[in-house]
Amino acid sequence: SDILLETRDLKMHFPVSKGILQRKVGYVKAVDGVNLQVRRGETLGIVGESGCGKSTLARLMLRLLEPTSGEVLFEGENILNYNQKQMLRLRKDMQIVFQDPFASLNPRMTVGNIIAQPLKTQRAKTNLKRQVQNLLEIVGLNPEHYNRYPHEFSGGQRQRIGIARAIALKPKLIICDEPVSALDVSIQAQVINLLEDLQKEFQLTYIFIAHDLSVVKHISNRVSVMYLGRIVETAECARLYDHPHHPYTNALLSAIPLPDPRLERKRQRIVLKGDLPSPSNPPSGCTFHVRCPRAEEHCRNHIPTLVHHELESHQVSCFFPLVEEQRLENSI
Ligand code: SF4
Ligand code: MG
Repeated sequence: SDILLETRDLKMHFPVSKGILQRKVGYVKAVDGVNLQVRRGETLGIVGESGCGKSTLARLMLRLLEPTSGEVLFEGENILNYNQKQMLRLRKDMQIVFQDPFASLNPRMTVGNIIAQPLKTQRAKTNLKRQVQNLLEIVGLNPEHYNRYPHEFSGGQRQRIGIARAIALKPKLIICDEPVSALDVSIQAQVINLLEDLQKEFQLTYIFIAHDLSVVKHISNRVSVMYLGRIVETAECARLYDHPHHPYTNALLSAIPLPDPRLERKRQRIVLKGDLPSPSNPPSGCTFHVRCPRAEEHCRNHIPTLVHHELESHQVSCFFPLVEEQRLENSI
């Protein structure tokens, strides 16, 4: 089928306890009913403020965390029913590149050993050194540097090492969890270009997570916007940037600086009231209503669901989606 990975009503509610008796006082609804479909060969961008549940969602999709409820389907099979042996096989197909290349690489291991790790777990042990050197070359590093340690590399190079480790087993899907957020702007484009080249060469499918809509624009085929553990809008990339329906997406777009300073001075910026509310005590109804410029009484008491609007491929979770004349000039 066309769908490589799918989540169905996926939830992760972490219990919160308080006091010396550790009395359970509630739940942090980090992921609260996410339905996503990732098509083979595409890049799906997932964008939201820090704390909205993006990284938790990434870990659930890889089953690095067990969800509270819901399903994760990979190639049509619910991986939550997999036993250890089946999970080990699945690890070959699904990999992750973490945000922080400094924290995700063991400082006491040589780069060669770091990259060889996944190969060892899958009994692909023949010619390890040759395989590692080949991977270093593929990600644009010197193959002779396999004996060096992570601290001997720059931030961008370390992220290349993380990518080499992720592609070592020729996976089908790589979840990139803010892979360039910790890097200098000048290095970000290089790493994104590398990811794009690898995608073509190895027919990879990506889920690309970021906190900023400008980062995912060039790499994504489709983009989902996340707010407080839920997807509030999903659309084809160009469509989302030119015709956002959700007031939150519109606000995020208005925060992206325009390259042309004359346009930049003229444009209206939507400043949202308040901060992201705590996911342990989310607002009633539409959880965005306390910050939403379009909120009405109805939004306080009713929860909108993700439904398509205007186009089959454009889904939005809002009772009063934006119509054409209400959108800002947001072309970036
Ligand atoms: Fe705003 Fe209401 Fe739409 Fe929620 S449902 S985003 S509060 S207009
Ligand atoms: Mg994160």
